[in-house]
Amino acid sequence: MANQEPTDPSHALFDLFVTAESCRDVQQHFSALCEQLQVDPKDYRVFYSKLKERLNYWKAKDLWKEIDKRASHKDYQQRKACAENKCLVLGAGPCGLRAAVELALLGAQVLVVEKRASFSRNNVLHLWPYTIYDLRGLGAKKLYGRLCTGTLDHISIRQLQLILLKVALVLGVEVLTAVEFQGLEEPSGDKGWTAKLHPNPHPTLAFEFDVFISAGGGSFLPDGFKQKELRATLAIGITANFTNRHTAAEAQVAEISGVARIYNQKFFHDLLTQTGIDLENIVYYKDDTHYFVMTAKKESLLKKGVIKQDYSDAEQLLARENVDHDALWRYAYEAANFSTNRQLPELEFATNPAGRPDVAMFDFTCMHRAEHASLVRERRGKKLLMGLVGDSLVEPFWPLGTGIARGFFAAFDTAWMVRSWGLGIPCLQVLAERESIYQLLSQTDPGNTKNNYTSYSIRPSTRYRHVNLSAIQVHQLRLYFWGGSPICLPHVNVFPVLVPDSAGGVEDLLRWCQKNTAGYAGVEVKDFTLSWTSGLALCALIHHFRPQLIDMSSLNESNAVHNHQLAMDLLERELSISPVMAASAMASSGLIDKLSMVLYLTQVHDVLTKNKK
Ligand code: FAD
Repeated sequence: MANQEPTDPSHALFDLFVTAESCRDVQQHFSALCEQLQVDPKDYRVFYSKLKERLNYWKAKDLWKEIDKRASHKDYQQRKACAENKCLVLGAGPCGLRAAVELALLGAQVLVVEKRASFSRNNVLHLWPYTIYDLRGLGAKKLYGRLCTGTLDHISIRQLQLILLKVALVLGVEVLTAVEFQGLEEPSGDKGWTAKLHPNPHPTLAFEFDVFISAGGGSFLPDGFKQKELRATLAIGITANFTNRHTAAEAQVAEISGVARIYNQKFFHDLLTQTGIDLENIVYYKDDTHYFVMTAKKESLLKKGVIKQDYSDAEQLLARENVDHDALWRYAYEAANFSTNRQLPELEFATNPAGRPDVAMFDFTCMHRAEHASLVRERRGKKLLMGLVGDSLVEPFWPLGTGIARGFFAAFDTAWMVRSWGLGIPCLQVLAERESIYQLLSQTDPGNTKNNYTSYSIRPSTRYRHVNLSAIQVHQLRLYFWGGSPICLPHVNVFPVLVPDSAGGVEDLLRWCQKNTAGYAGVEVKDFTLSWTSGLALCALIHHFRPQLIDMSSLNESNAVHNHQLAMDLLERELSISPVMAASAMASSGLIDKLSMVLYLTQVHDVLTKNKK
């Protein structure tokens, strides 16, 4: 039975969807399947359940079983935690798609935009044990039978993208390929946050969103984020892909899961003396292609004529015009041939999308790490939560294979942040928690993460061994004014996070305070410092929204410390807003810190306007 061709057209379309080997085919077969079953993916809230209901096919049921198991995790709250959120994900690389899947499981509406029209990267990624477990748990084995068979712990970038694309589509994620994100459009009129897309797929009906996840890879960073440069000693990486004909002879050749110079001096010495090639390390994986990644020494590249002229600046050194590509191909070919004992028959380069040998040389000298993982922008009362995942957050050193492992961790952490956002946790608290978790990411390795993969979820404590969600406190967040001059808190030594995005945002906050304290005796809000000294303004603000909490007639303007203490205690007890200054400092004219006050009042505003009684 199992091997018979299906007679039901929807079963045949499902088979085509599952076995599709290109991004375009996946999308086309998926559309055809949806049409056949008369289910509309735009109906994202019920799409997956309708698909399951209408596709009564044993192969599909095998996939649903895996996905249902994952979706039933309590953290997703039956896919309701983010039911009111709309998320734009930039980039359909593995990390963008992995994040999109989690956001869909949380119940959000998710749109992914990807500027490339196809998935064409043959290069192979190392998978840590937990990532293999994670992928299996999404039904990846049903979508790509060759996934990590036996002891294999790697996969080509394109195959990983195809698997995740299929899972994302099934969960109702909309994925637009060949569409470039060109920036954010601020809210105007009734319209919320939108994106400038090219070409614009929705000329009349823009997708409005309140969450923007940037997964654009190492070279893309959205406005508002900053990167730190990590400079290593010069490291030049070469990747090379050769055609895999999947013959018995090729299957015999052993993979090299990472030979570093210090562990096998003889191998590297022989390679140098016999070929003139001098490497620091080499990895060989068998996948769709025979894939090699190696770190080469500059001197040998110069001697072999790969690099034409020596420069101390790495960018100049590896500039296109300073590289002889024929010599590079010969170098990669010889290194691959030598390290596999010349056992790979008819070694022939696979081609890249440009039809040329798939060989590339990269600079690992300088890697980037974002200074912070999240921020919130606010314009015309519309907030936008932004987060980074994948290489755009922390660029990996490829030979160590940390890209996917840390990339997926960041995707889960980001989904956790969006969950908190969806559940209405005050935005500064959401950011402080995200930055607390981000501090752990770069130290993450298989040895210091929890080894019970079955309990892994987006909840950070299921994965990190020692996680302190309040390592960074709300009052430690730095404040910047978008468009104005940046203002820093000198005593704070943590990742900066941006709050109201323009002088306009702060002006709005001031106007909100004025409006809601108007008419109270002894209160006249003109600024964020002196107007608050007596404590009456803060008490008035609370009274305006929660009159039952405070008896304004009992307060005395001259009793400033008492007034502040009362207001701060109420805010902490009733609204979970931690104080940012001592009552005595708030009560001394000249000691109120403007930025701390803006941060504090932003939280008060967020909570009071969200939970109006
Ligand atoms: P990526 O996989 O880089 O995906 C980012 C996606 O965002 C891309 O598809 C890009 O087209 C898209 N994008 C960028 N800007 C925009 C925009 N403005 N609008 C719309 N879409 C946009 N790692 C290894 O371990 N070994 C390797 O050999 C290896 N080779 C690599 C080769 C290349 C060419 C690249 C780019 C990366 C390579 N990596 C390698 C890194 C590895 O691919 C990443 O660690 C991994 O893919 C996780 O990446 P990601 O999803 O964060 O980003």
